[in-house]
Amino acid sequence: MRQVERQGDSQEIMAMNIEETLRTLGITHPAGLWIDQQVRLCHGPILAIHSPVDGSLLAEIPQAVPEDADLAIAGAVAAFRRWRLVPAPVRGELVRRFGNILRENKQALAELVSIEAGKIRPEAQGEVQEMIDICDFATGLSRQLYGLTMATERPSHRMMEQWHPLGPVGIISAFNFPVAVWAWNAAIALVCGNSLIWKPSEKTPLCAMACQSLLMRAAHGMREVPEAICSVLIGSRALGELMAEDRRIPLVSATGSVAMGRAVGKAVANRLGRPLLELGGNNACIVTRSASLDLAVRAIAFSAVGTCGQRCTTLRRLFVHQSIADELITRLKIAYASLPIGNPLENGTLIGPLIDRTAMDRMMSALSEARHAGGTVFGGDQLTDRVPAGGCYVRPAIVEMSSHADIMFQETFAPILYVLRYSSLEQAIELQNCVSQGLASSIFTNDLREAELFMSASGSDCGIANVNIGPSGAEIGGAFGGEKDTGGGRESGSDSWKSYMRRATNTINFGSDLPLAQGIQFG
Ligand code: NAD
Repeated sequence: MRQVERQGDSQEIMAMNIEETLRTLGITHPAGLWIDQQVRLCHGPILAIHSPVDGSLLAEIPQAVPEDADLAIAGAVAAFRRWRLVPAPVRGELVRRFGNILRENKQALAELVSIEAGKIRPEAQGEVQEMIDICDFATGLSRQLYGLTMATERPSHRMMEQWHPLGPVGIISAFNFPVAVWAWNAAIALVCGNSLIWKPSEKTPLCAMACQSLLMRAAHGMREVPEAICSVLIGSRALGELMAEDRRIPLVSATGSVAMGRAVGKAVANRLGRPLLELGGNNACIVTRSASLDLAVRAIAFSAVGTCGQRCTTLRRLFVHQSIADELITRLKIAYASLPIGNPLENGTLIGPLIDRTAMDRMMSALSEARHAGGTVFGGDQLTDRVPAGGCYVRPAIVEMSSHADIMFQETFAPILYVLRYSSLEQAIELQNCVSQGLASSIFTNDLREAELFMSASGSDCGIANVNIGPSGAEIGGAFGGEKDTGGGRESGSDSWKSYMRRATNTINFGSDLPLAQGIQFG
């Protein structure tokens, strides 16, 4: 790895931060392939990692090549054969230890998330907290991988189901949750008895190396943990494509854009593997006449501008009852005007940078299309004053629309909030559901009937439907994911663990006759 070239104060601070942070997290040999603690220097093209904070170069890493991927997958197969035999509560012990190591290293890992992904410190810390939470959840789960016992129609028979480990789990992750999404998958998959191969976003490989290093610290001294229980493959989408096609990986959990999900879903389905897809959203909020506007304004601002509009659950479309629209929009504009935008490493900043220039260009092009469609844009300008040079900083935009224009069907991964007035709740729900994505939604109302309608079968068609909180910022206890183009996958809490195991139905005859099901007489 080449260290940052120091060009000025902000870069000097960053260089000191990154050096110390990487050391704390145990990253001494950045390289394309990590199998457990063994770091293999790969011979693929060099991947240059730039910080979105100020564009500075953080590291140059040789990427993994197909032979490295093969090595990692073969290792994961061998590890799985051993790990599946380890009792689930002992597997839970690994995850419990990992959670504790995350607690000890929360600040350092969050710092790296801020530096590499551009998140403000409180959000980066929240992301690491989410990892700790899922470790706690998975540890408890390791003693609760229950199957059912079913009534059988045959005398002296018993019927039951068991949940068994599935195999190596491939994890492909996006840049915007560089550590938590992996942890949702990893913690659950590990207690379920699976090994892991992780292809993180090429924009955030240092975060992945840090997670790997901390997990291996947790495994240290646990003789039950086999070699190659977890590998990290650093590199481009081509590595993800290889994983999607490889029959040795029965489950590929992929988080990212809809385009990525279509490609991965197709490749995994083609070999009749299991795709678990967590894809883009186009999330909405409905504010009704009876809503508390105090609650709504705060929730809308957090959901629409948090992580600079780069959350899968970011609020993108707001439907406001016409009778309260003027007041709500005015209050939102006041809130937006006072948002502190700038260096995410500085205390008090609420909006950090976009991930890169491409994201900025996409935002500007979406705003221009919205203007063409008759939208009135508030904010949305590029910032150069009082923000670190070299980063892509923008003022979040509110765009008042008179109809559901074409641009509103797309997920533009930036802080753009389209606002539309409505007259009946049924119409608002229809507008909300008219897009192809189906991740997160919410309603603000103090009317029980409106809330129940929104959550009913004829209400929101999304995987997440909230009342009086925004669509963003889920807890780990619930199953997370969405419908339609969002991919249909569910991760994290509730019974999402079932996707990571195989179910065996067992029927046992303890009698001396052989009665057949459905009363069939044979011979
Ligand atoms: P992306 O699709 O560009 O990349 C995500 C990952 O997929 C990366 O690791 C990338 O290398 C890999 N990839 C891309 N094309 C691939 C292919 N054809 N085959 C295999 N792997 C491939 O997404 P991004 O820009 O990193 O992240 C933003 C997107 O992710 C947004 O659409 C956002 O909504 C979505 N996202 C969804 C969730 C969720 O839980 N639903 C969570 C986070 C992000």
